[in-house]
Amino acid sequence: MTCSFDLRHYREILDSARAGGYRFAHFGEGPENGDVFLRHDVDLSLDAALRMGELEMEIGATATYFLMTESVFYNLASREGAEAIARLRALGHRVGLHAVYPIARLDERFDPVVAWHNPDPEYMSVPLDGPINVMEERYFSPQTYRSDSNQRWRSGCPHEELRAGGFPWLQLLVHPEIWVYEGATMGQTMRAMLEAERERRLQQLAEDRIDLS
Ligand SMILES: [Zn+2]
Ligand SMILES: [Zn+2]
Repeated sequence: MTCSFDLRHYREILDSARAGGYRFAHFGEGPENGDVFLRHDVDLSLDAALRMGELEMEIGATATYFLMTESVFYNLASREGAEAIARLRALGHRVGLHAVYPIARLDERFDPVVAWHNPDPEYMSVPLDGPINVMEERYFSPQTYRSDSNQRWRSGCPHEELRAGGFPWLQLLVHPEIWVYEGATMGQTMRAMLEAERERRLQQLAEDRIDLS
């Protein structure tokens, strides 16, 4: 098994979790032994989130998708944004807020759970008044947390440890863009994403009655 950042290996990671006896849990429950909290911070692409969400549904996994209301890359208030939320929910996933500090304004689109975008250490783990902060003490310890940030596992890809049942429980942060678009480095992956984005934008321009002749 090679630990590449693509959907094939993502599926293997989830299969490994299954094989290790884990179940997919949601913030607000647990953590209990055997829980895996699949967390997706959607920084760049709703399309990537939807593709990952479809794959998870196929194999019976559920996750929490953290979506931004202040992204420069996508507009959650657009029709496309509203449809993405509806589709993720239809696939059985939860939707939380990926907030930019210090504003965490939850509305009816979100479950009461917040993940800060690029948090600084001073406020990263501070509990919030009401919603769950996914990095608060209850859900975060270095031993029970893995993240793929910038296409690097700081403590290694978790598939082996999952398969062996090595974590008591785990919060697994996976950014969909990194897995849906392929590249050997984050730079390559981002360029692949931009290529796909170009096609999507051309289509949107045509739908917006822009003359592309
Ligand atoms: Zn791996
Ligand atoms: Zn983020």
